[in-house]
Amino acid sequence: MPGFELFGDAERKEVNDVLESGVLMRYGFDGMRNGHWKAKELEKELETRFKVNHAQLTTSGTSAISVALAILGVGAGDEVIMPTFTFVASFESILTAGATPILVEVDDTLTLSPEAVEAAITPRTKVIMPVHMCGAMADLDALKAICKKHNLFLLEDACQAFAGTYKGEYLGTIGDVGCFSFDFVKTITCGEGGAVVTNDNTLAKFADHFSDHGHTHEGNDRGAELHPFIGYNYRISELNAAVGLAQIRRTDEFLDIQKRNKKILKDALSTIPEVSFRRLPDEEGDSATFLSFFMPTAELSKEVVVAFKEHGVDAYWNYFDNNWHYVRRWEHLKEVKSLFPLSKEIKEGLQNLSEVSFPQSDHWIARNISCLIKLSWTEEEVQARAANMVKAIQSVLAKV
Ligand SMILES: *Cc1c(COP(=O)(O)O)cnc(C)c1O
Repeated sequence: MPGFELFGDAERKEVNDVLESGVLMRYGFDGMRNGHWKAKELEKELETRFKVNHAQLTTSGTSAISVALAILGVGAGDEVIMPTFTFVASFESILTAGATPILVEVDDTLTLSPEAVEAAITPRTKVIMPVHMCGAMADLDALKAICKKHNLFLLEDACQAFAGTYKGEYLGTIGDVGCFSFDFVKTITCGEGGAVVTNDNTLAKFADHFSDHGHTHEGNDRGAELHPFIGYNYRISELNAAVGLAQIRRTDEFLDIQKRNKKILKDALSTIPEVSFRRLPDEEGDSATFLSFFMPTAELSKEVVVAFKEHGVDAYWNYFDNNWHYVRRWEHLKEVKSLFPLSKEIKEGLQNLSEVSFPQSDHWIARNISCLIKLSWTEEEVQARAANMVKAIQSVLAKV
């Protein structure tokens, strides 16, 4: 997955453009910047590549989700439905908005279970936020239908599925709003950065203003601009945007490598009848950043994790005991360890969270192993890796 593996001359050139002018800010200073507008150019690239009307860069994927929630009008008393398997950023952004995160089961897609989503809807629900984990998509047709039926917003967290598609449309552009992350370990990186995309002109204007203190970005006197509503500072710097600009131009190159490498590993594991694969609602749209598979039991999965290590296979995860990606280890959330007081609604919502169990999520996450697909492997390395993975799994199965 990580674009940083292929950082090189193209990235350095874009950064040098910015360093030569010294204009590190994305807005203003028109006369000094030698015609370089890296953030604006990167937004254009996102719009063109993903066929979406508007892209707004932010400082991170987390802040992109914060902006997305703000422009959808999510706040105190509202509930946002999110999956049990994601990154902590999901609930962090919801809490930052003053809203209540409602955690919902994932299924064999490793993303939101549409049935569980529908069962979790209350009069306070405002947004359904699927997270396209480990490179591939949630069941967006089902989730879209639920949003339509209950008049809810669909916010796609596509931070881990950059350039993935669903039935020919880019992930992130299918819901009302979509979010991307360009942190250091994502498919393309800015160092730190993120983006909000939408086809809605009003939401786009809100995102533009909100992410820069409410600035309207009209005219050429920043100090004289108006502030139609309260904003915040989630502006990306030109330096970060410059790195992303070089990286986004390499998207096709990155995806081709990922798909090629993933196919070799998947073909090899397909020869083992006990191994099953994560269900992909649209196989063709997989961005191929991970190969995610299931063993028949949680115990076998644990043993495969050990066997991989013994066979020299790296960069894989079983997320069941993971501190950052799965609800089981989010004690800080369940025990409301906040530095500042939270609203009554949030506290009550989190109280409920500490009491519920997620048997369906436990079932799939305990059996799952997700392997990162790297860009820097040579073909020989991938072939050797595939052979080692098969050997490791067979050594575990031979003991049963
Ligand atoms: C990385 C990530 C984020 C947050 O992105 P940052 O840029 O690191 O803040 C949000 N959601 C998911 C699923 C992620 O993987």
